[in-house]
Parts: sequence; C-alpha cells; structure tokens
Amino acid sequence: MDCLFCKIIEREIPADIVYEDDHVLAFNDINPQAPTHMLIVPKRHIATLNDIEEEGDLALVGRLQFTAAKLAAEQGFAEDGYRVVMNCNDHGGQTVYHIHMHLMGGRRFTWPAG
Ligand code: AMP
Ligand code: ZN
Repeated sequence: MDCLFCKIIEREIPADIVYEDDHVLAFNDINPQAPTHMLIVPKRHIATLNDIEEEGDLALVGRLQFTAAKLAAEQGFAEDGYRVVMNCNDHGGQTVYHIHMHLMGGRRFTWPAG
C-alpha cells in the first residue's frame, strides 16, 4: 500500500521509533513543533478519523490515547501537561492519510489552535 506510515511500520522507510507493541507504533515527528513531538499510529491502516468503525476499531483508538499518556509520563511532562492532536482531512490539516495522534510536550501551548 502506498502509505508513508505503513512503510514506516513495515520498516521500508526509516524512522526514529520510540515505542512499539502489537497494535501501535510511535516515532518522532520529522518536523517537530515542540521539544517532544511524537506520532502514535495504529499498525492497521485506517485512512482518516471518519473511517473508524464501531466494530473493531474503538479499542485501538483508545490505545492511541493510552499510549500518548504513557509516553508523556516517560518523557516527564505528564504533570506539567501536553497537547494531543488528531487532524482530519483538508480543513483539519491532515497531510498523511493514516490516522495518527500527535503528542507534543515540553513547552506551553496556546488555545485555540490556529
Ligand atoms: P498531519 O499533518 O496531521 O497529517 O501530520 C503529519 C505529520 O507527519 C507531520 O507533522 C509531519 O512532520 C510528519 N511526517 C511526515 N513525514 C514523516 C516521516 N517520514 N517521519 C516522521 N514524521 C513525518
Ligand atoms: Zn497506512
């Protein structure tokens, strides 16, 4: 499949992988927007948030969030706080069509997002 993140999962393209289990992979974003900026992706290809199915995908999406919290604790900014973002389609700013959770920490973020 012609998907950048599937290729990273399959080790066809290198990435700075920070966490892996049977269901998810996390790696450092190539263009970090914070001192820590990781992407957490399901190993199963799901193109957008609109493609999540009630049958089978809900635990996987919960696992993305759970992994973000674990990595935030590991990175040492869980208590200070952090930002998680999932962009959907054009208006959401999605550029890679394999769902991913951005985990950003190590600085203060503003709200609302741009
Ligand atoms: P989004 O705009 O939400 O789809 O986020 C895609 C993210 O993937 C961006 O933050 C990019 O910097 C990041 N990205 C693109 N190519 C790579 C790559 N080869 N390795 C790591 N991160 C990447
Ligand atoms: Zn994919």
